[in-house]
Amino acid sequence: MNDIQNEFISTVSHELRTPLTSIRGFSQTLLNSWEKLDEESKKKFVKIIEEQSNRLINLVENILTVSKINADKPLIREVNVNTAIDKVIQMIKQKYSSHKITTHFNKHLPPAKLDEDKFQQVMTNLIDNACKYSKPDKEIKVSTSFSSSEKILIQVVDQGIGMSEEDSKKIFDKFIRLENHLTSTTQGNGLGLYITKNLVELMGGEISVKSSPNAGSEFSLEFPFFNQEEALKCSQQS
Ligand code: ADP
Repeated sequence: MNDIQNEFISTVSHELRTPLTSIRGFSQTLLNSWEKLDEESKKKFVKIIEEQSNRLINLVENILTVSKINADKPLIREVNVNTAIDKVIQMIKQKYSSHKITTHFNKHLPPAKLDEDKFQQVMTNLIDNACKYSKPDKEIKVSTSFSSSEKILIQVVDQGIGMSEEDSKKIFDKFIRLENHLTSTTQGNGLGLYITKNLVELMGGEISVKSSPNAGSEFSLEFPFFNQEEALKCSQQS
């Protein structure tokens, strides 16, 4: 086993141990002191057990995704990015009903060359983060357009907590969560953007971020068109 694998296993074990210790502790307290605890404390402890179980499930799902990233061959086909993004936004709106997410789509974009499931996973991670790391009254903008290098440009822009330039260089690494009041009060394991970057690159795309503290973040994705020659004609006409 090499150093990277060793380090990964030790980080994963640590990440697994924290919620497991908490689940065991609170269930033991409930079992041993059931008669002595009032209703409110019992509910509070069961709620913690539920939250920590969800944290474990998300972590295991993300670890499985990480382990499959390079083994899973992408199913590349023609994908209409505007339609795919709309589907993702409808799902996210169920979770973050008070956030305002607006779309600014170029309606003349030809199809992109993508794996639709993986693309939806990428967009879900980025829009979910935009909601998670900004206040509900701050608008989130999702746009599509032609990039300067004649590819598809997709941007997710929020007006949230943002981050320093130095931090923005770290966030695509495994298990990185920045230290601020939103990361300490929201669920996450720091694997989302690592998975996102890997999926984007697997589909021949690129991802970058521009951000400043307390002003917000702008995540940009670039992907090739399915038919690059046809797309070039469309971009000259639009
Ligand atoms: P997490 O599960 O913690 O959300 P990610 O890998 O998706 O993990 O993101 C890594 C870290 O990058 C987050 O913990 C957060 O600190 C920061 N981050 C990601 N997206 C944003 C954003 N839109 N605004 C501010 N910080 C962000």
